[in-house]
Amino acid sequence: MMPTIHVRPPLPGPKSQAILARRDAAVSKASFRSTPVVAASAHGAAVTDVDGNTFLDFTAGIGTLNVGHTPAEVVEAIRSQAGDLIHLCAIVGSYEPYIALAEKLNALVPISGPKKTFLSNSGAEAVETAIKMARAYTGRPAIITYEGAYHGRTLLTLSLTSKYALFKKGFGPFAPEIYRVPYPYSYRCPHCRNEGVCNLTCFEDLERALITQIDPSAVAALIIEPVQGEGGFIPASYEYLRKVRALCDKHGIVLIVDEVQAGFCRTGRWFSFEHSGIEPDLVVMAKSLAAGMPLAAVTGRAEIVDAPHLGGLGSTFGGNPVACAAALKAIEIMERDNLNQRAEQIGEITMAHFRRWKEKYPIIGDVRGLGAMTAIEFVQGRNDRTPNTEAPLKVVAEAYQRGLLLIRAGLYSNGVRTLVPLVITDEQLEEGLGVLEEAIGVVAG
Ligand code: PMP
Repeated sequence: MMPTIHVRPPLPGPKSQAILARRDAAVSKASFRSTPVVAASAHGAAVTDVDGNTFLDFTAGIGTLNVGHTPAEVVEAIRSQAGDLIHLCAIVGSYEPYIALAEKLNALVPISGPKKTFLSNSGAEAVETAIKMARAYTGRPAIITYEGAYHGRTLLTLSLTSKYALFKKGFGPFAPEIYRVPYPYSYRCPHCRNEGVCNLTCFEDLERALITQIDPSAVAALIIEPVQGEGGFIPASYEYLRKVRALCDKHGIVLIVDEVQAGFCRTGRWFSFEHSGIEPDLVVMAKSLAAGMPLAAVTGRAEIVDAPHLGGLGSTFGGNPVACAAALKAIEIMERDNLNQRAEQIGEITMAHFRRWKEKYPIIGDVRGLGAMTAIEFVQGRNDRTPNTEAPLKVVAEAYQRGLLLIRAGLYSNGVRTLVPLVITDEQLEEGLGVLEEAIGVVAG
């Protein structure tokens, strides 16, 4: 097989450098970029830059491109919809793609009973909408969130988000009535440290918070990522999620799951909460929902989604017809091509390599994931779990020079995550993993 990667170092090339200089001059310095790639086009799992270098993409737009870059059928759906109706605004009137997508999501989300949907533009906007629904439904103010959580960068979602220095420093004051508890992060669990038997002692932290911090009768919602994304690709134990469900039931708390990064086949299920068998009340989605078009959704129990007063929810662009057409086609592709099964295969292949690397390189402390949502956590050495924050930066840089696009992850910024497009071929996956190991080898010394 011909390799996909084709790069001519030194990178970035001259045309890329010129555009990067313009970016530095014209764009806010506060917007981080993982690599210096300047994309001209992308198809499937491959990205070609303006100098003609072709990279393999192990980021998929941070989990946005589960159906790959520019799938022909989605491109055609976008073209066709744009020719008919680019925009109307769902506050002005109705158009079928919005309604067809809501029907599709209501059918797809495994919650029993009647379901409804509201569409918006971004993950953050959808999270805010879910909080509004929960508050309107319960008449209560408080929200429980997690250490390591990422729910967005708007003020309310930033208040829910963790990782202070990178995301929040200098941006307060934050929204009130938010209570944060430790996430079941077994590798760094102060109780079991991933070594012995997990007794779910971390669940007691949550129970205690309902005594020490806030009365459960004032809690509108608990929001959780069943697999923490920015926090480092940490799957919560299924038993933990089931206990959370029972606790929410006991106190009438709305359970919101944030599936923005983990949803749409990434973990081998439509939504990552499905692995645990729980039924949340509201599901927040974005990213891969619309194959790269800006679109987000809240789907959940009809009585909660309907709780805000008439006119209480709205958005100028939310549920734009072109984005809805892309989403309908993307979902059709995921179903038809069984991308859930493919994600599981990709996860198995990837984890087999990661486990081998963990034995080989002492700077790899933990490898983990669910389906094709996989990550490596770097530490100082075999018996020293101190986060190694330098290693991921160097691994990402070395991989870029060799034609692989990567991005970090982790509460301590000491991880590298892989979110390959689920349409990647086995050859491309092995090629990219080969480059990743080479990069780790260089950094491990
Ligand atoms: N929730 C999760 C779990 C996310 O990963 C993200 C984005 N990384 C968001 C919410 C925010 O989504 P957006 O950037 O579309 O606002």
